[in-house]
Amino acid sequence: MIERTLVLIKPDGVQRGLAGEILGRFEKRGIKIIGMKMVHINRDFAEKHYPKDMAKMFGKKTLEGIKEFGLNTNKSERELGEKTWEDLINFITESPVVAMVLEGVHAIKNVRAMVGSTSPHEALPGTIRGDYAHASMTYSSITGTGGRNVVHASASAEDAKREIALWFKPEELHEYKRADEFHTTGG
Ligand code: UDP
Ligand code: MG
Repeated sequence: MIERTLVLIKPDGVQRGLAGEILGRFEKRGIKIIGMKMVHINRDFAEKHYPKDMAKMFGKKTLEGIKEFGLNTNKSERELGEKTWEDLINFITESPVVAMVLEGVHAIKNVRAMVGSTSPHEALPGTIRGDYAHASMTYSSITGTGGRNVVHASASAEDAKREIALWFKPEELHEYKRADEFHTTGG
């Protein structure tokens, strides 16, 4: 039940000086930071983290958003998806991110809940995206600004495994005891 998950403070979060604020939320909840570094990734690496086949899913979502907000487009679902993915790659490579591996009981689910919905306009207050961002993914797609939603967190055990191996070498992950571990996990 003790899981590891990958979290990124994305370029918008770092540029806005939110790194400490975000780290503090995880620390205070009792979730352990077992690896952390600042990295400015290149396009090659970004395409490994966000594979191009995500464009398909983005196309569907972007088109749905355009309809939801009563907007029009003459672009195809495929074009929209590819453009949204390109914008995402440009955004994630524009400046450094803070990458970390967090460990805790049901960490993948717990951390995703703290991060909130993908589109900040749907993220509940109290979540990181709901407290520190407000633009929608539709707005990001239409303006070409990239999905600026402050943080990334692994979505599943499979993603966590793949993402941790991509971002961290085994020797960059540490084992230690937090002083409050008994109180936060009972273990
Ligand atoms: N994204 C975007 N437009 C979309 C959906 C996602 O720009 O319509 C970006 C956003 O930055 C998001 C990332 O792509 O965090 C990965 O998308 P995913 O659906 O995996 O969302 P997440 O797991 O980050 O909530
Ligand atoms: Mg995801």
